[in-house]
Amino acid sequence: MVTISEGNHINSKLVVYLKTLLSGAAPIKGSRPVLKIMLLVCIPVIAVLTFFGSAKCAVVMGDEVIAVASSRKVAETAVEEYFNHLELVTGMPVKISEEIKYRPSWNFSSVVDKGEIQKLLAGKMDVQYGATGIFVNGKMVVAVKDQQAGQKVLDSLLNAYKGNGDKSVTFKQKVELKPAEVSPVELADADKAVEYIRFGGSEARKYKIKEGDTLWDIASAAHIDVEELMRSNPNLRPETMQIGQEVVISQTSPLVDVIATYTETRQEEMAFRVQEKVDSSLYSGEKKLVQRGKSGRREVVYNVTTENGVEISKKVVEAKVLQAPVPQIVAKGEKKLLAFRGGNGRLAYPTVGAIVSPFGKRWGRVHEGVDIAANYGSPVVAAEAGTIMRVGYSGGYGLRIDISHGGGVVTRYAHLSSATVKPGQRVERGQFIGRSGSSGNSTGPHLHFEVIVGGVHKNPSLFI
Ligand SMILES: [Zn+2]
Repeated sequence: MVTISEGNHINSKLVVYLKTLLSGAAPIKGSRPVLKIMLLVCIPVIAVLTFFGSAKCAVVMGDEVIAVASSRKVAETAVEEYFNHLELVTGMPVKISEEIKYRPSWNFSSVVDKGEIQKLLAGKMDVQYGATGIFVNGKMVVAVKDQQAGQKVLDSLLNAYKGNGDKSVTFKQKVELKPAEVSPVELADADKAVEYIRFGGSEARKYKIKEGDTLWDIASAAHIDVEELMRSNPNLRPETMQIGQEVVISQTSPLVDVIATYTETRQEEMAFRVQEKVDSSLYSGEKKLVQRGKSGRREVVYNVTTENGVEISKKVVEAKVLQAPVPQIVAKGEKKLLAFRGGNGRLAYPTVGAIVSPFGKRWGRVHEGVDIAANYGSPVVAAEAGTIMRVGYSGGYGLRIDISHGGGVVTRYAHLSSATVKPGQRVERGQFIGRSGSSGNSTGPHLHFEVIVGGVHKNPSLFI
């Protein structure tokens, strides 16, 4: 039953007449019969129009309703897009034996969207297309319309790693093009197929655990890390894995790997060697830089292998030295101080205390001896047997004693507070000669001790 009320889209004048008619009031005057007839015709027409105006649109093939769309426009767009896709992927016009028709429908509850219409349409059209499948290790991963498209996919996968050089590229896996029967909607165009293979497919795959599988086996077969596998399967534990259990494999790596091999010439630095040689003029423990080392350069021709662009191995084919490295040569001594005395060549420690300031460069000046921490008045002894050469005050040294040991070897003791020996006197090794102090240029009590060989200051640490 159609009810009519004011506010509807029907002309309000018409409503007035209609009300009059239904209320059984005085019939419309004979002077207006045309209007009466019009009214009687209009009501059913309006009713029918209203009814049809609310209709949905059924997509019909043969006598069968394939799907119901919300409007004819949606239905037509869905069908048109679907066939355009078929033509695009197959590269040929699609002919169907039965025409597609559109019909009003009031089956409101089964209205579906565009994508669903296309799926239903594909389900009804049982077309198998003689396509070309791309098979990886015997398993089809994607299908394209023909051999030529398949080859284009393989070439573009390989060429991505070919570069401009003389690289030879090949697949790590066994990759084949073989005929395959697929439904046209399963076909991909060449660009999509390349993307699918390179990015491993957009959908996660599932794997059923087989006897003897370890996480590592499953992960490596899927070309992912064990960590990635664990991330996709948070509940997966090696100790609770069961045969037949499903594991989600998120495929972020390519379905095929491209191995490229090529030769490459690289220039490399060559490290220098350090050589030590004995210098008879140096005492045991003394070292001297004779020649500073310098890196060299070489040109190497490598046979490089990459997997998906990542270097996995390189072998030297040829190497040419452009500039030989210069070895660093260090002279070291073996000479024993005072070896003539038949001792071990070491001097006696001249006082009690640790070395607090070493021999060598210090604040821009050369420290010609070592400073040994010593309290004021600590005993100082002769480092070796010898003859006292000098006792007395001498500038910055303060009170100082020099002892000659023969062979050009002299020891010197400075900043003393007292001396108990005299020039010309013989002393024994370890004999008491005076006391430490802070005389001369000194910031506090300590013993400044020098070893002079042939007039040259040596590092006392080498000998005591
Ligand atoms: Zn000093």
